[in-house]
Amino acid sequence: MKVDSILASRTKFMTASEIRELLKWITSDVISFGGGLPDPSTFPVDEISKVVAYVLEAYPQRALQYGSTEGVAELREELAKFVDSYAGIKARPENVFITVGSQEALELLGRVFIDQGDVIITENPTYIAALQAWRVYQPRLIGIPMDEHGMVVEKLEDTIRKLKAEGAKIKFIYTIPTAQNPSGLTMSQERRKYLLEIAEKYDLLIVEDDPYSYFLFEPIQVTPIKTLDRSGRVIYLSTASKIFAPGFRLGWVIADKEILDWFNLAKQSLNLHTSTFAQYVLLEGLRRNIILKNLPRVKELYRRKRDAMLTALETYMPPGVSWTKPSGGMFIWATVPPHIDTRELLVTAITKYKVAFVPGHGFSVDQSLTNAMRLNFTYPTFEQIEEGIRRLAMAIKSA
Ligand code: PMP
Repeated sequence: MKVDSILASRTKFMTASEIRELLKWITSDVISFGGGLPDPSTFPVDEISKVVAYVLEAYPQRALQYGSTEGVAELREELAKFVDSYAGIKARPENVFITVGSQEALELLGRVFIDQGDVIITENPTYIAALQAWRVYQPRLIGIPMDEHGMVVEKLEDTIRKLKAEGAKIKFIYTIPTAQNPSGLTMSQERRKYLLEIAEKYDLLIVEDDPYSYFLFEPIQVTPIKTLDRSGRVIYLSTASKIFAPGFRLGWVIADKEILDWFNLAKQSLNLHTSTFAQYVLLEGLRRNIILKNLPRVKELYRRKRDAMLTALETYMPPGVSWTKPSGGMFIWATVPPHIDTRELLVTAITKYKVAFVPGHGFSVDQSLTNAMRLNFTYPTFEQIEEGIRRLAMAIKSA
C-alpha cells in the first residue's frame, strides 16, 4: 500500500531525529559523543530496587491502577516541596503537573499554544528535540544568538519590536538558562531579570526548560527565572531523567493552574496519564532523599568528565577549532572553520575515524549552524573521551 499519498499534510514536518538516525550507523568500534545519555553508573540501582519492592508491597492496588491526568496527588505535593527546597520555587501542588519526561511537556506546549505562522523565540542554538516537537505545528522560529552569558537578551527587545510591527503573534520565548543543551552555557542573573522584564513589557510567556541546573560545576549565583515570576508567565519544566533515571520517563511542569488545565485536556487524548507505577517509585525516592544524596557524586563525576574533554580538546584540536567551556550539564558545543560542513564531516568521522557527534544544523532554527557540533561528555568513559577527541581532531584536520 502507498502510505505516502494518505499522510496528513502536517506529517511532512516530522523530521527524523538526527541523533536517532546517527545511532543506526554506530558499530561497537565507534566512540560516540552523539547521544545525551547519563552515565549508567549514576543510577541509584540498589535504592530503586528497594523502593520498587516497597511500592508493590505497600500499595500495589494504587500503584498499578489508572491514575489522574495531572499526576499522583502525593507526588505533586512532594515535588512542590522539592522545587522549593532545591530551587526556591514556590508552588502549590495544584501548580505541579506530571509529564512523560520533559519531552512530553514540549509536545503539550505545541498542542496548546502553536498555530501555523505563530512566532516562537528560542536561543540559537537550542535543544534539537524542542524544535522537532514544534515544527509539526508550523511556527515561525526565531533564534536569538548566545554568548558566554547565555541568550543575548539585549538583542531580544529589538527583535520583538520588529516582529510586533510586522503583526506577528509571538507565543512564547523558550530558554534553557542553566547549563544549556547544546552549549553548556548559563544565563547570568542580570539577563534572567532583564528577560522577565521584557516578557512583562510585551506580555509574553517564557518557557524555562531546566533539566541541568542540578549539574552546575561553577559557583555561578543564579536562580530559576520562575523564582522571579510574579505574573504567572513562566512555565517551568524539569525532569527526573538526569538525576534519577531516564527510563522512568518522568518530568514535571510548574505553572499557573489555568495553563495546566489546558495541558490536562491535551494530555488526556495523548496518553491519559503518566505511568502511575513510575510516579510512586519517584515519590518514595523523594521521601527517602535518594536524589539529593546521590547528586554530589554524580556532579563530581560529570565535572571530571567535562574537564577531561576540555583537556583533550586543548591537546589535540588544530587551530581554527573553538569550543564552549560549559558551566555545567552534559555537552560541549564546538565550532570548526566555516568551510567544513559537519554533516559531511560526520560521515568520514564515523566510517574512517570511528568517532561520532551530532552536527550543528538541527540545533539552529534555520539549519544555519553548519560548521558546529555537539559533543556529549557524560556517557563515554574517560579513556573514550581522550581517544575519541584525538580521532575527531584527525577527522577535522583531514577536512
Ligand atoms: N529539554 C532539554 C533541554 C533536554 O536536554 C532534554 C533531554 N535531552 C529534554 C528536555 C527531555 O528530557 P526527558 O524527556 O528525558 O525529560
